Amino acid sequence: MKVVAGNWKMNMNYKDAFALFHSLNNRLNNNEVEVILCPPSIYLSEFSNKLKNVKLAAQNVSSFESGAYTGEISAQMLKSIDVDYCLVGHSERRALFSDSSEVINTKIHLLLENEISPIFCCGESLSDRESGIQNEIIHNQLESGLNGIDLSQLKNCIIAYEPVWAIGTGLTASSDQAQEMHFFIRNYLKTRFKIENDIASQIPILYGGSCNAKNASDIFSKNDVNGGLIGGAALKEDTFSSIIQSF
Ligand code: PEP
Repeated sequence: MKVVAGNWKMNMNYKDAFALFHSLNNRLNNNEVEVILCPPSIYLSEFSNKLKNVKLAAQNVSSFESGAYTGEISAQMLKSIDVDYCLVGHSERRALFSDSSEVINTKIHLLLENEISPIFCCGESLSDRESGIQNEIIHNQLESGLNGIDLSQLKNCIIAYEPVWAIGTGLTASSDQAQEMHFFIRNYLKTRFKIENDIASQIPILYGGSCNAKNASDIFSKNDVNGGLIGGAALKEDTFSSIIQSF
């Protein structure tokens, strides 16, 4: 499956958000690509009633099931308004909101129990890469994030490789660097879940980090890159649409 997801983060007031949602939802008609929009949660409920050509993802979910957790939104609540996907483990949540490996793993379990597909983000920092330990970092993030997950659950997951040094910085991994890491992730899945290539290749692995209309086709042309998780470039209709056309 080819996937392009747009992470709007904490951008756009209602009027602008609705206008962008409306034109993407009505104009996109590329049946080969699953297009997922990740708007701020406050807009999910309204958008979910109007879905045509896009799917919805939440940007976050609570690590608690229900109860006295002021300000939180549960996986059950997301499911009740037909949200199909949810970002988990984004580097901004790890760094700014202290989402630990345990919390990330709990969120993944809660999402899967509620039939929401996690878009599980992993990625190394600049200093990790400069020290040449990116594989070890990604291995550890996958190992802890997917702890207790079985193969049938994995089949409902999307992995996003997002090198932290490339997120919002304008620095993109080269297509070869992306392919190398995606190949590493695919091999990890093969070993961890004891699966052959034909099954492992069905798990979408997206690239994220300053992906834009200019570099997307080069990155998406690589064997193990099944699409992109797009931040800044997802906020403009023409740019996001041309990224979707980049396969
Ligand atoms: C992201 O935040 O997931 C992301 C990839 O951001 P950007 O495209 O802006 O680097």
